[in-house]
Amino acid sequence: MKAITILGSTGSIGTQTLDIVSHNPDKFRVVGLAAGSNVSLLAEQIREFQPEIVALGNQDKLTQLQDAIASCPHQPQILVGSEGICEVARYGDAASVVTGIVGCAGLLPTIAAIEAGKDIALANKETLIAGAPVVLPLVAKHQVKLLPADSEHSAIFQCLQGVPQGGLRRIILTASGGSFRDLPVEQLSSVTVQDALKHPNWSMGQKITIDSATLMNKGLEVIEAHYLFGVDYDQIDIVIHPQSIIHSLIEVQDTSMLAQLGWPDMRLPLLYALSWPERIYTDWEQLDLVKAGDLTFREPDHQKYPCMQLAYAAGRAGGLMPAVLNAANEQAVALFLREKIGFLDIPRLIEQVCDRFKAQNNIHPSLEDIISADQWARQAILDAETTSSGNRFIALK
Ligand code: NAD
Ligand code: MG
Repeated sequence: MKAITILGSTGSIGTQTLDIVSHNPDKFRVVGLAAGSNVSLLAEQIREFQPEIVALGNQDKLTQLQDAIASCPHQPQILVGSEGICEVARYGDAASVVTGIVGCAGLLPTIAAIEAGKDIALANKETLIAGAPVVLPLVAKHQVKLLPADSEHSAIFQCLQGVPQGGLRRIILTASGGSFRDLPVEQLSSVTVQDALKHPNWSMGQKITIDSATLMNKGLEVIEAHYLFGVDYDQIDIVIHPQSIIHSLIEVQDTSMLAQLGWPDMRLPLLYALSWPERIYTDWEQLDLVKAGDLTFREPDHQKYPCMQLAYAAGRAGGLMPAVLNAANEQAVALFLREKIGFLDIPRLIEQVCDRFKAQNNIHPSLEDIISADQWARQAILDAETTSSGNRFIALK
């Protein structure tokens, strides 16, 4: 029986992890849950999974949560705010912490979990992209495992099992192409938030769905792959694979290629991040190659999707630049979701902010440096947006 804690339990990653737990009650037990503000779902989860400790990010909703579980025979310890979430991350005998909080808000709780000796099932890519210069040394120091739950990185990790040291030559990340993969580039300037939120293959949280539409998600995954597998950026490629059946591939030294396949279902990489090195039997729909049909591939269009190149450039610059790219992206996506900027303003703003930061980059940053670069980039996006004197697009072009 493995004890686990789930950060971001009410989100797409969190609820799919809990689905694994409820179908495997003899294998997994929930110690802690943390969520932002979805009180009714969190209350349901407390009733069903009986965690010892719970944190609610939004402290204004504490009374609401207490009322919602007042009749519950099981009463967990309840904490609030970001310190509460960190406490849940480090609490008790959980062997593994699933990081399903979205954005850089996941950074401090992930660090807390690592310092408490927990293995990390890493869904929250923003944490590693912004925090790798601090997170990776901590992983080594505390000898914990950083197990990828992102489907592409899980695929690479699965392909790597049995590949000897030095055997890896190249990583090929597959990308579905996101909501606008079949839309001509000229039409991207007028797409709406609702259009962008319609992902063809995966059902995920809003932020990552927009990242998939801009292809920034794939750019972030390039940086994530660099940090997780220690591969140079020149050895990481992207290929568009609209069916999302091959979740990524590796090429080894002799040019042999290995791929991992499955239906697009995040429970599979999540389960592997929790069960590695074991393989747990599931009754999920088995992949039927004939039903999957054609598997096709095409070059990514960097003209249409500049975010991938922005991410490669930030990754190659290293140091604080990935943190700046990530924070600028988070803030730009938030503005897009609030309909304050257009879809094409997302890459334009991020590029502006990364350019402005170049002279200040620090290759060996501390945690404080990362947090202040993150805040600087968010503010730089807001400044760019508000200096547009009424016409929100003027200053951005
Ligand atoms: P989501 O929006 O569905 O869920 C986010 C969760 O985090 C919610 O429980 C929310 O309450 C919580 N949260 C948000 N802000 C918070 C804060 N400031 N403090 C505390 N809790 C907060 O997001 P998601 O799609 O589940 O994605 C979570 C992470 O996993 C992201 O980093 C994403 O890139 C990554 N990821 C997701 C998928 C997927 O299929 N959903 C796939 C790969 C990677
Ligand atoms: Mg992914």
